[in-house]
Amino acid sequence: MQIFTHREFDAHEQVVFCHDPGSGLKAIIAIHNTRRGPSLGGCRMWPYASEDEALTDVLRLSRGMTFKSALADLPFGGGKSVIIGNSRRDKSEALFRALAGFVDSLGGRYIIAEDVGVTVADAEIMEKHTAYVAGTKAGGSGDPSPATAYGVYMGIKAAAAHRLKRESLQGIRVAVQGLGQVGSHLCRYLHGEGAKLSVTDIDQRSIERAQAEFGAEAVAPEAIYDTPAEIFAPCALGAVINDETLTRLKASIVAGSANNQLAEARHGAALAQRNILYAPDYVINAGGVINISHEGANYRKDEAVKHVARIRDTLSEIFRRADSEGIPTSQAADALALDRLNRIPAAA
Ligand code: NAD
Repeated sequence: MQIFTHREFDAHEQVVFCHDPGSGLKAIIAIHNTRRGPSLGGCRMWPYASEDEALTDVLRLSRGMTFKSALADLPFGGGKSVIIGNSRRDKSEALFRALAGFVDSLGGRYIIAEDVGVTVADAEIMEKHTAYVAGTKAGGSGDPSPATAYGVYMGIKAAAAHRLKRESLQGIRVAVQGLGQVGSHLCRYLHGEGAKLSVTDIDQRSIERAQAEFGAEAVAPEAIYDTPAEIFAPCALGAVINDETLTRLKASIVAGSANNQLAEARHGAALAQRNILYAPDYVINAGGVINISHEGANYRKDEAVKHVARIRDTLSEIFRRADSEGIPTSQAADALALDRLNRIPAAA
């Protein structure tokens, strides 16, 4: 396995391989860029099929965090961590204590938070062993998922205004893939504005809840790509926009919370070629990290919510830039993020 020449390496500052035989911890912490401040990013626990898969994931995710923080105008750099393991089976207090020790050893260069498979309760174990944890109740902002969902909702509104010329989501059908922490809150916002929902999950109980609460139409997991809807909101897995799903999508907008939605960078251009407006994942799903950036003794929810709502303006700017330069929105987002990153002197 190559590290410095890995296809996703992209000038990472530091990559740390963490092993604790006692607890069975095998984790990777990736710090992509600290130009704007300490790197901040969640920890994902996933039963990766190989170490290369885990490395690829953490490198892509941590680079995404650099761009996300720059576009959301946060005083943070980009970092991320992954634990190789099954979150239902392999979690223990010792495992998170060991990971917290590794985070602590970085002296604040990386601040850890929750991601898929890692909960607020897990972050609260780590908080006992290092100060470099965000997204806990003690920090003041708690679970980031509701804020992420609110940001996705704002992003969907920006996309609907741009592509469908609609200021309201009343009567617009949204196909939501994944009814977890973010997807379920997102459905509440969409339903509240009168959108129609088609939903799927691999957990039947989540689907039944959405049917009962929001009058949602249930769709089988594999059928969600073929579902007639104006908007497809991926809120479960990465790589859902790929050669196979692209030809099936009925929606004219892709806007959801999932990280790494494009299987490969070229799928951003492929969406544009099919005239599908893509809200770049790291822009639309920044609500949680924006909320975290307001953490501290003076946390004010109203200020954090206002900041999250700016995702709507940022996305509108990206959509306009993509139109005027004739480039995919994924490329326009990267260009805007780099503009903002390069405004900060390298030594800062
Ligand atoms: P979650 O684990 O709570 O929810 C994911 C849901 O997707 C679960 O209900 C799961 O059953 C479902 N799912 C899994 N495989 C599926 C499949 N094949 N088809 C349909 N549903 C499937 O995670 P979450 O916190 O809601 O995050 C969702 C996505 O958003 C992830 O990609 C995550 O990285 C991203 N994200 C989350 C946050 C946050 O604040 N939680 C912030 C930024 C990005």
